[in-house]
Amino acid sequence: MSYLVLARKYRPQTFDEVIKQNHVTQTLTNAIKSRRVAHAILFTGPRGTGKTTVARILAKAMNCKEGPTPIPCNICGSCREITSGNAVDVFEIDGASNNGVEQIRSLRENVNYMPAHSPNKIYIIDEVHMLSISAFNALLKTLEEPPSHVMFIFATTEPHKIPITILSRCQRYDFKLIDIESISNHMKDICSKEHIDITEESLMLIAREAGGSIRDALSLLDQIMACSEGTISYKNILDILGVADKKIIFDISNAILQKDIPEALNVVDEIYARGYEMKKFYAEIIEHFRNLLVVKMGKNISKLINLPSHEIDLMQDQVQDISESYLNQIFDLLFKEEASIRLSAQPKLALEIAFIRLSHIKPVLPIDLLIEKLDDLKKNLPAIPANYEVAENKDALKYYSKIPQGISEELTDSTELKESCSSSSYDSNDNLEITWNKLLDIFSKNHPALAANLAKCSLKKLTKQNIEIEVHGNGYNINIP
Ligand SMILES: [Zn+2]
Repeated sequence: MSYLVLARKYRPQTFDEVIKQNHVTQTLTNAIKSRRVAHAILFTGPRGTGKTTVARILAKAMNCKEGPTPIPCNICGSCREITSGNAVDVFEIDGASNNGVEQIRSLRENVNYMPAHSPNKIYIIDEVHMLSISAFNALLKTLEEPPSHVMFIFATTEPHKIPITILSRCQRYDFKLIDIESISNHMKDICSKEHIDITEESLMLIAREAGGSIRDALSLLDQIMACSEGTISYKNILDILGVADKKIIFDISNAILQKDIPEALNVVDEIYARGYEMKKFYAEIIEHFRNLLVVKMGKNISKLINLPSHEIDLMQDQVQDISESYLNQIFDLLFKEEASIRLSAQPKLALEIAFIRLSHIKPVLPIDLLIEKLDDLKKNLPAIPANYEVAENKDALKYYSKIPQGISEELTDSTELKESCSSSSYDSNDNLEITWNKLLDIFSKNHPALAANLAKCSLKKLTKQNIEIEVHGNGYNINIP
């Protein structure tokens, strides 16, 4: 007997068996019960989420000997014909290969004939967005005045490509991506029926790779079963799918977070030697950093990250001591480099360059934290005489000489500052600028990073209580000295 692929063998035959599209199946059930099923129905949603499956169940529900019924019997002639795909009154048309106006014209002529032996003639058009404009126009005429015995069920992954005139005549149902846990549970059921020995961790891995599509998950499972003998080990699956082990992703992201670029390059080398595809590996790293950001932000984590809770716990540990803005910077750079790696003829090299660039990121201090730091600095400043004015140069020197934190000696010893302060031929604005520049000079000797960043500021005002610095631009880099 030939092997029947899992997706076909376990294709749901009733609305109840459909995985995770309750919002669709429930509304259809209600419509069937109240005899209000439209003549044109549109199923939209990502691939492998059950659109064609539900279309067939709906066809059965409408044409069943017991019907219309939300629970088709699956034993009458009509139901069995639809299951086996050779029903005379249900036509499955692939929109991609029958997209011309001729095909739709012959369909229109066909529509007028009564069904052979069922209540309805049902046309299921898959990938309907592939129809040409003239084909859509021809179809529109039928949709405007459909014969009462005719029903159209359209399925598409790209509803935005369907003309609005068609859309407005359809009752629309949006299918959702299926979460990893539900896919994994569904595969678990199938595996126990098939007597396949496989761990939950492995099933989660396959489900993750399938990216929300049941059909993809089951074909991956088919593929893995065909490649393995006896027990299916986690390592086997990693090899077959060409996926990097989660541990490797954690290792490399740790190296990046700790700025240990040699270690990151080392991991890349290992992965490369094992024959993994670099572009796919990079995509996994970006995905991981996206997840780390979500974890760091701390809201709707389980909804936004489709991963088992123990992995989310590990991520939480990973970002505990890392600031959100730093994570953001890394994610931003990784994302910007994505195209260059995807398009590169030497993706490994491109990936290494991206990692080296990562090592040059300097953590950004958020503006609120910066203000806090300036406030702290202000608190540590000594009191200034009430009549203090910047123009009074000796006072300025006195003021600076009282600055604590070891900087004061540098300032008092500075002959440059003394000279600057003792000259008296400028107005107070010039004085501010010159004083500030002298200060920067002094800082740059022993605190170059701080001076470099303060250079983007200007001194606005000095009073008894306040030192006012104007920050230019909308971003501000500062290294914590
Ligand atoms: Zn039936």
